[in-house]
Amino acid sequence: MAEGSGRTDYITWDEYFMGIALLSAERSKDPKRQVGACIVNNEKKIVGVGYNSMPYGCDDAKYPWKKGPKDSLKAKYLYVSHAELNAIVNKNSSDVKECKIYVTFFPCNECTKLIIQSGIKEIIYKEYPKKDKPEWIASKRMLDDANVVYRRFDDINTSTRSRILLNFERERD
Ligand SMILES: [Zn+2]
Repeated sequence: MAEGSGRTDYITWDEYFMGIALLSAERSKDPKRQVGACIVNNEKKIVGVGYNSMPYGCDDAKYPWKKGPKDSLKAKYLYVSHAELNAIVNKNSSDVKECKIYVTFFPCNECTKLIIQSGIKEIIYKEYPKKDKPEWIASKRMLDDANVVYRRFDDINTSTRSRILLNFERERD
């Protein structure tokens, strides 16, 4: 191959990191919403990934995955550890200060607090909830005051690609 004739259809950095967030979400056992997160530092190195899961030691099969009545012990929100929390605590760097976090869904108010307190400075999210419930409004209020930038993936990604296919088929000799 001649010099300077590398591939041009390679994926963008934003696609790469959101792709890892999406791939991580595929690990989630939540039947309703699978969320993935990928934290990236200023050198474009991944320092943490996560998806929504039950905490360590809490058997996925024994805990509720349904929304359940809010005042009962059968509601998943009491137990599920969100993707952002998992990505932050799974970090392989000493901290995540000045990092970006790619998330497949806009962070709830609890994860927003974690994001702010951990020093993450930018959120790139894929989906935004259909209904603007208090938790999302509270998130935005805190992010605005804490000067954490949040941007929708579609607004920043420069590529027009709508999907990436991963092929697990074995190559035939
Ligand atoms: Zn959350």
